Amino acid sequence: MDLNIAPQDLAFRDEVQKFLVANVSKDIQRAVELTSAFINEPEISIDFHRALHKRGWSVFNWPKEYGGSGWTAVQRYIFDTECARYNAPMYNGAGRVMLAPVLMKFGRQDQKDFYLPRIAAGEDHWAQGYSEPGAGSDLASLKCKAESDGDDYIVNGQKIWTTQAHKSNRIFALVRTSNEGKRQEGITFLLVDLDSPGITIRPIHGNGGDHEFNEVFFDNVRVPKSNRVGEENKGWDCAKYLLEFERGGSLSAGRVRAQFTRLVNKIKTHCPDDPDIIARMAELGTDLDAMEMIDISILSALQSGGNPGPVSSLVKMRWSQVRQQIAELTMDAIGEHALKWVVERPLYETLQLPEEDEDLLTAAPRYLNYRAYTIFGGSTEIQTTILAKSMLGL
Ligand SMILES: Cc1cc2nc3c(=O)[nH]c(=O)nc-3n(C[C@H](O)[C@H](O)[C@H](O)COP(=O)(O)OP(=O)(O)OC[C@H]3O[C@@H](n4cnc5c(N)ncnc54)[C@H](O)[C@@H]3O)c2cc1C
Repeated sequence: MDLNIAPQDLAFRDEVQKFLVANVSKDIQRAVELTSAFINEPEISIDFHRALHKRGWSVFNWPKEYGGSGWTAVQRYIFDTECARYNAPMYNGAGRVMLAPVLMKFGRQDQKDFYLPRIAAGEDHWAQGYSEPGAGSDLASLKCKAESDGDDYIVNGQKIWTTQAHKSNRIFALVRTSNEGKRQEGITFLLVDLDSPGITIRPIHGNGGDHEFNEVFFDNVRVPKSNRVGEENKGWDCAKYLLEFERGGSLSAGRVRAQFTRLVNKIKTHCPDDPDIIARMAELGTDLDAMEMIDISILSALQSGGNPGPVSSLVKMRWSQVRQQIAELTMDAIGEHALKWVVERPLYETLQLPEEDEDLLTAAPRYLNYRAYTIFGGSTEIQTTILAKSMLGL
């Protein structure tokens, strides 16, 4: 992998910057800045996604044969960094980053032909139906069941912590189709329309005040068997493959660096002479540099159509910790300003304050929301176990 910035890469950077200036308005930048939840709402990100689609860049992370950009690792890094610096909102990672590789590897041709172009165009917004009450880290204990009825399954059960289900029109779900043998051997991967009769979505509000996730209930929901990805009872293979992309399938470096830059600016304003804060900032900056290098090394595998592999657990775990530390140091750096709290959401629709005051109001909700970084997508304890097993060859 060659990471030197060649003249053609600098030209590419100019092209990306021009594209961002033309397609991300000040209002959208402000909305991204004032989003304290993890993911920008589709209302914020869809126009930028459509602009990317028009330009042939909406699924830049996919292999070229499926419409990917064919960028080199350096170009991909440049694109990601510039988008983060410019506060450009990315649309529905659950579809583009997580589900799409599963469809490419395990899906039938008709499923690829139908769903992939819709993801690329932003016509579908996907939610992830893995977790259940009692089935999170121990995912294989899931109980939501799908029973055969002619050409359909009848699905009954519950999913929980379903991010943006209330904004989505489809969900990919792990369901139990057999209780025989090992628990992992009775799981099937289904694609479900969220407007199917029998589905109820109930909101859960996080401790940061945002409504980002939900409970999803299935009451005799009829799902065509043609919506199954892979074979019946073989969904665990799809599930594990998807998790690699959830944990390591997109670059974090650009976004975290942008977050770090905002922290540095706050330190300059609020506590430029505090030696403890400065020392913690320096340590975080070093962690960020090290993680950035690991991120870049994964790019090569992804660019050639590969999967991230076990290193995705390292990346997921460490980026989560770095993000949490930045949120924590931001709170400490702004001192009593961190106590300000606005209840209403979304903040970008609610606030009418000078820019410098608005900015301070996201610190506490972010700090609280970000506690979940080390839980979702597989907790830090689970990632540590995966890494240990892979390093020890267990
Ligand atoms: C913000 C957020 C968004 C989410 N979005 C989604 C989503 O869109 N779709 C979805 O399906 N799920 C989603 N989740 C759920 C997420 O995947 C689970 O919360 C996660 O897998 C942990 O499961 P749990 O909550 O049941 O905790 P538990 O599994 O009960 O874990 C509780 C604690 O015990 C520890 N623990 C458990 N087992 C072990 C072990 N074997 N060894 C050591 N320690 C262990 C864990 O590390 C954790 O600290 C989301 C969660 C959050 C917080």
